[in-house]
Amino acid sequence: MCDTKEKTMRIAVLTSGGDAPGMNAAIRAVVRTARVNGIEVFGVRRGYAGLIAGDLIPMDLRTVSDIIHRGGTKLYTARSKEFEEDNGMRAALKTCIDYQIDGLVVIGGDGSFRGALDFSRLKEKNGEPCKGLPLCIGIPGTIDNDIGCTDYTIGYDTSLNTIMDMVDRVRDTTESHDRCCVIEVMGRHAGFLALNAGIAVGATTILVPEFKYDIQHDVIDRMRRTQNTGKEHFIIMVAEGVAKDIEGGVEALARKIEAETNVESRAVVLGHVQRGGAPTCKDRVVASIMGNYAVKKLLMKGIGNRVVCMKNEKVFDLDIEEALKMTKSLDRELYDISYEISI
Ligand code: ATP
Repeated sequence: MCDTKEKTMRIAVLTSGGDAPGMNAAIRAVVRTARVNGIEVFGVRRGYAGLIAGDLIPMDLRTVSDIIHRGGTKLYTARSKEFEEDNGMRAALKTCIDYQIDGLVVIGGDGSFRGALDFSRLKEKNGEPCKGLPLCIGIPGTIDNDIGCTDYTIGYDTSLNTIMDMVDRVRDTTESHDRCCVIEVMGRHAGFLALNAGIAVGATTILVPEFKYDIQHDVIDRMRRTQNTGKEHFIIMVAEGVAKDIEGGVEALARKIEAETNVESRAVVLGHVQRGGAPTCKDRVVASIMGNYAVKKLLMKGIGNRVVCMKNEKVFDLDIEEALKMTKSLDRELYDISYEISI
């Protein structure tokens, strides 16, 4: 009698790149969806570095208890140069073969998706596709919201709210002393955080890498104009990508403002506080839906090499390569609105 029993599906999940609040909620959704559908799940610790090192832990329904409300990532995260090289990828493939991993869910930014795409294209020395490669699925997790194929990335809403909360506090003291505060927020190449948080805190000027700016016109002259209307305290919001192009960074900008406007000025670099903390309701819900989608709508149907995306509040999926070619731009109209009303 032949044995017709099919092998139980096995998947692995990892977080990669910068951590983002809500990654835990996504891990939980992946693990729970898999387990209730009879799929075995492994958590890979420290992203692709853990895949290379074979650092996998079995996950079940209770391994992911009490994490939905926590920031960071239970699986830790890392950036792995080794994975970008052939030897690293082959070591990662060996781990997948050893553990018989059929599907791999990668929660991270576009760099992590690029890694998943390259991994899925790994070839034998004779040019044939490698055997044993898992089906890869990307879930967008990054506070920057800078992934072209999706309106939304897990962690963005929490980070926005953290920035707003922190700047509200700064504003109290800025107001009490009639000061100006120059705030640097994360976003090396993308101004989504700076623009949206800047509007929410009523920043007089918002400087983002996407739009041209002129310090004299957009900061100094603008502050003078508002001074003439009686305004005495100011918030200037600067994205990291702009701050690094200003000689001396936000500290130097604060000194220049003080020298030219006579308003005592301080610089605040918010830094890693923007990454941490309990995820907002939106991040928990989106992460839960995307994690469930990755397993139920894709891996369980034998579909791989896709990125889970969200547009107009609807979740869908795209081919990884196609998704990586997409770009999205910062909303100029929103920028103009903020310019008009924060005066
Ligand atoms: P964040 O937006 O938070 O920076 P990210 O996923 O874009 O997240 P990266 O540091 O760009 O972060 O990428 C994470 C990891 O993905 C890298 O350390 C590397 O291991 C892998 N990776 C990135 N690009 C490639 C590539 N072209 N080929 C193979 N692996 C890659």
